Amino acid sequence: MDSPHTGRIVLVTGASRGIGRATAIALGKAGAHVIAVARTIGGLEELDDDIKREGGTATLVPLDLKDYPGIDRMAAAIGERWGRLDALFGNAGVLGPLTPVVHLHQKAWDELMAVNVTANWRMIRAFDPLLRKSEAGRVLMVSSAVARMNRPYWGGYAISKAALEMLTFTYAAELNGTKVHVNVLNPGPTRTRMRAEAMPGEDPMTLPAPEELTPLILEMLSPACDKTGELVAFRWP
Ligand code: NDP
Repeated sequence: MDSPHTGRIVLVTGASRGIGRATAIALGKAGAHVIAVARTIGGLEELDDDIKREGGTATLVPLDLKDYPGIDRMAAAIGERWGRLDALFGNAGVLGPLTPVVHLHQKAWDELMAVNVTANWRMIRAFDPLLRKSEAGRVLMVSSAVARMNRPYWGGYAISKAALEMLTFTYAAELNGTKVHVNVLNPGPTRTRMRAEAMPGEDPMTLPAPEELTPLILEMLSPACDKTGELVAFRWP
């Protein structure tokens, strides 16, 4: 069966594990060419094997997203090779320490803002011209429910996700009336390394696996998605 993702060029950040990895595999299986970004080369290579096994194709980009000129170079290389970007899944993120805001160290704050906010701003800034060249450019940024919860000790992470949401909704409003649609995903608690780090006492098997989220993510990245400027939450049945 033909898939709406066939032949699309889709970039996934944080593709080495968790939600990003599951999404990259699902996209590859659905016929997209996946540009997979993360720091862990071993994780990217395993992902490549899995995508190939499903009959898909990928380009691996080992990159620390705090390397902002590296983001610009990646966009230039993608522009040269394909002339467009059809979808961007801005999924990479860090949790940082769960601690009162007054106990946060400068280094932890800087890392949270650098990865969760600034890198995503640099991504949309670098890829905007290529997304506009797509027949149906789609951007989906991954936030968290805590961005709107005022939860003690989660401040650093929550503040960074609230900023990411405002960045994404502002960009969506600026693109109103274009073929590029831009949305935010709240995945909800998902069985990944980050969740285990946040909730060490929790039984991971009570949570949905990342694979459960991929139908919703692929729907939001597909040309058929007519939403823009919206927050979409995953609900586990
Ligand atoms: P994981 O920790 O499993 O994966 C995080 C991914 O981000 C990894 O692939 C990691 O790759 C990548 N990453 C982190 N820092 C960098 C960096 N500096 N440069 C490049 N890549 C980086 O987390 P999840 O899959 O759980 O999280 C995915 C997204 O979902 C995150 O934005 C998270 O905030 C959000 N989320 C997750 C929830 C959950 O319950 N799991 C709930 C709500 C939101 P590498 O280390 O190889 O660079």
